[in-house]
Amino acid sequence: MFKSELRKLHRKSLLRHLVHRSSPQGPVIIIKNRKYINFSSNDYLGLAGNPDISRAAAASLDTFGFGSGASRLLAGGTVRHSELEKALSDFKGTESALVFNSGYSANIGIIPAIAAEGDIIFSDELNHASIVDGCRLSRAKTIIYRHKDVAHLRRLIKKTEAGRKIIVTDTVFSMDGDIAPLSVLSETARGNNALLFIDDAHGTGVLGHGKGALAHFGLKSAPHIVQMGTFSKALGTFGAFLAGDKDIISWIMNTARSFMFSTALPACAVSASLEALRILRDNPHFVLRLWANREKVINGLLELGCNTFDSETPIIPVKIKTIKEALRVADSLFRKGVYAPAIRPPTVRDPRIRLTVSAAHTEKHIDNLLRALKEVMA
Ligand SMILES: *Cc1c(COP(=O)(O)O)cnc(C)c1O
Repeated sequence: MFKSELRKLHRKSLLRHLVHRSSPQGPVIIIKNRKYINFSSNDYLGLAGNPDISRAAAASLDTFGFGSGASRLLAGGTVRHSELEKALSDFKGTESALVFNSGYSANIGIIPAIAAEGDIIFSDELNHASIVDGCRLSRAKTIIYRHKDVAHLRRLIKKTEAGRKIIVTDTVFSMDGDIAPLSVLSETARGNNALLFIDDAHGTGVLGHGKGALAHFGLKSAPHIVQMGTFSKALGTFGAFLAGDKDIISWIMNTARSFMFSTALPACAVSASLEALRILRDNPHFVLRLWANREKVINGLLELGCNTFDSETPIIPVKIKTIKEALRVADSLFRKGVYAPAIRPPTVRDPRIRLTVSAAHTEKHIDNLLRALKEVMA
């Protein structure tokens, strides 16, 4: 079964395989007994292996055990879940917040809860796969607008008569590392009586001194803005959240199927996220360090003559002409002890090496990356 399909993938250089670490996630990881400098994780602040977070999780494990046993609606949740939601609404400056099991699960639950048949969703062409899947599940008509092209969006939105209109966008685009124009998107939403749903997976802990994309643009939470973010990237833990007005949170809690029909996150994962939020709040230098490292890497790449698309964040794609060449570059880097994988279709249109920079990278890690790239691309 599927043998000929698999062969086809292999011929097109599109067959993927799993990589198994034998160390914590971090700036250096161990694969098959060898150390690699890691430019592939979303652990932007180096918190994934943070010992304070492990201790908070361990203490919670002692108190609550591992399993949560049921969905939130059936007492699967704990007082830690409620503490985390309070901490999130304080952090985000919203009335309320709700924890989801993952970013993927949040998007496929929230989008169908706010958009239904008869409604229209306007979606950026480069939105994350979980947004695409959420739009499909909603049964609303989905209209794709050109990447970050607000003029295009405005033309499309003016032409349509619909029940509800919803504009949906990543804040930081996960494969290109550029930032959605949230101020104009918010105005466009308000002016057209639409909702704006933002996915702040790569903005949380990175933009706006860690507070996220709205803070980056000096925007405040508003009734027409619904935001989700994840714990799984800069915060280094696991899970996701929705933040917004009381009514919208209450509506989603009562209708999002991925929330209602899935077992609650274990309390230890929730306690880990509470500790991660505390660390982020008390250590503003982590975010500063991340951005300083990002500057070092991008300046080095530009000096090497690399094409970094329109990256403006710690996600830095390096354009490579063909899929085969991207695989060769990634493989040669790997041999030199640098882990920076190739990203290829269908994930992206143009093949690339995708680098993600962390606050935990040292100057030496960055120098090694740039030297290896120079040798490999020569
Ligand atoms: C990673 C990611 C998600 C999914 O989050 P998980 O917690 O990993 O499920 C959703 N949206 C975007 C933009 C992402 O990059």
